[in-house]
Amino acid sequence: MSMRRLLLSCMLLATCVPFLQSQSLYMPRNIQQAFKKESRSPDGRPGKNYWQNSARYKIMVSAAPPDRTIQGSEQISYTNNSPDTLKNLVIKLILNIHKPGAVRYGDTDSSYLTSGIHIDAFTENGHTRTWNDPSYHLTWQSIALTRPLLPHDSVQLGFDWHYQVSLQSNREGMIDSTTFFLAYFYPRVAVYDDYYGWDRLDFTDQQEFYNDFNDYTLDVSVPKNYIVWATGTLQNPDAVLQPAVARKLAASMTTDSILSIANRVDLARGQVTAHNGVNTWKWTADHITDMTLGLSDHFVWDASSVVVDDASGRRASVQSAYNDTAKDFHRMVEFGRHSLDWLSHNWPGVPYPFPKTTIFQGYADMEYPMMVNDGTNEDAAFSEFVAEHEIAHTWFPFYMGINEARYGFMDEGWATTFELLIGRADVGAEKADELFKGFRVNGYIRDPSAEEDLPIITPANVLRGAAYGNNAYGKPSLAYFAVKDLLGDALFKKCLHEYMARWHGKHPIPWDFFHTFNNASGKDLNWLWTNWFFSNNFIDLTLEKVEVTGKGALLTIRNTGGFAIPFDVEVLYTDGSHVSLHQTPAIWSQDQKKALVPLTTPAGKKIGSVELKEGIFVDANGLDNKWKP
Ligand SMILES: [Zn+2]
Repeated sequence: MSMRRLLLSCMLLATCVPFLQSQSLYMPRNIQQAFKKESRSPDGRPGKNYWQNSARYKIMVSAAPPDRTIQGSEQISYTNNSPDTLKNLVIKLILNIHKPGAVRYGDTDSSYLTSGIHIDAFTENGHTRTWNDPSYHLTWQSIALTRPLLPHDSVQLGFDWHYQVSLQSNREGMIDSTTFFLAYFYPRVAVYDDYYGWDRLDFTDQQEFYNDFNDYTLDVSVPKNYIVWATGTLQNPDAVLQPAVARKLAASMTTDSILSIANRVDLARGQVTAHNGVNTWKWTADHITDMTLGLSDHFVWDASSVVVDDASGRRASVQSAYNDTAKDFHRMVEFGRHSLDWLSHNWPGVPYPFPKTTIFQGYADMEYPMMVNDGTNEDAAFSEFVAEHEIAHTWFPFYMGINEARYGFMDEGWATTFELLIGRADVGAEKADELFKGFRVNGYIRDPSAEEDLPIITPANVLRGAAYGNNAYGKPSLAYFAVKDLLGDALFKKCLHEYMARWHGKHPIPWDFFHTFNNASGKDLNWLWTNWFFSNNFIDLTLEKVEVTGKGALLTIRNTGGFAIPFDVEVLYTDGSHVSLHQTPAIWSQDQKKALVPLTTPAGKKIGSVELKEGIFVDANGLDNKWKP
């Protein structure tokens, strides 16, 4: 029902029947509290009392490969914007995932193990304090503040630390003996929010992250001949690069051409970096959720840029760093440019929000703000597919501050959706859909186990294995495609943009998303959210009955699995002609178990067969979808 017709019917009936009949969404008690305190608003907007905490980080790290020791020192200015007085702070120490005894959801061998992160000094407001290493929850530590942190006040923290880069690289670690990728490499203050308080989740190497938006300066000191690539804007190219190289890097910021900033020969001749004993590379990034970096003495370096915002003409830099032997990486800047261009202009259709992206060759296939760590593949098309997915994460979770640890579907579901949409543009719908089904749907729908059908809203931190993967990637992506089919592209995009405009740079939760789509579409979609996100449904339609009538036929379709999916009714006539009738998920809005579809047969034609075609919504039992007289 359109908003105008809804208003009209409300006026006529004096009471708003559609809303009275509205099904309300399940809301956990802690989230009800947040709405009660008006930090979030029922119309989907941040509430009048919305707040989030933030910090300024001044980080200095040094590395001298092949020594795997990283030394770090940081000053954190942490501001409490909450209405609460904080007596404790929670500090995340993610690198302790490498310690023997850490809870890990994936198998690993001894080359992944290290002694974790060692805090060498800790200060609170300039005063030296004793640091006790965490004993039970290894990846975070709660510290009692000497002086409670009042609302709207700040505390100054200082940390010195060191750790060993792990031999086996997963999301971070040693790529080769003189190439390191550093992520989660500094102690950080956990998120304190309006619905859980402190984020006290253990990092298990499976669920991802939840970070506040902070301002950063990052100084990275490395021996000469080492190049550093990092999140943010390089502040001192002229101090760390030789003049000709600095000029090439500057030129790459204004051209569509792909420039080699440093090739193998340049590196071998020592013609890339400044000839100081140690070069300190200085980076800054504001209002961003994390910093990562890669460093190497032999990775080659390509760069270009691309217009991401037509209105302002703003360009974003696209860079890659890789081992020259990786054939697919020679095309990585091309893939990166295409990703930024397509994603900015089509889906999500919001200009790439950062000044840069760098695709660094590693083993992770993992996104970071302005950085991607991807493995090399024989098949360059697959490398492009992975790069597109990881770059799509720029919008979710980095532009929108998603709580990935509890609601992975709020970022992986979108990255998977954009991955298919850009894939259709790249290789055509048929091929892209096949890849999507193979990669994201088939494994899930063909396994009848209970783990596969847990509601998407289930907090991701309690899920493992396939249960986590399905709920973070394939199922929510199908849900977003179902909503897109129901609303149509224009209205769906309007709602998506409204959600992004309201919540970028903030911490939306699923209810903010659901409420914003209801509000921006003017439709009460709670039945659809409940159907897709709060149920144990799966995908299975049954063509139960076909009654041939005088004018055509009446189909009875049972929704055996329960998910409100779109589908096509393919009617093949005996003369060989056929017709396809698209049904949006709206067909399930009244009765979610059964739908009737009337067919009108054109004069002179006779139905030869009827089949339900479900596209990417793979049916658990495709054998009962066809009828022949
Ligand atoms: Zn992803």
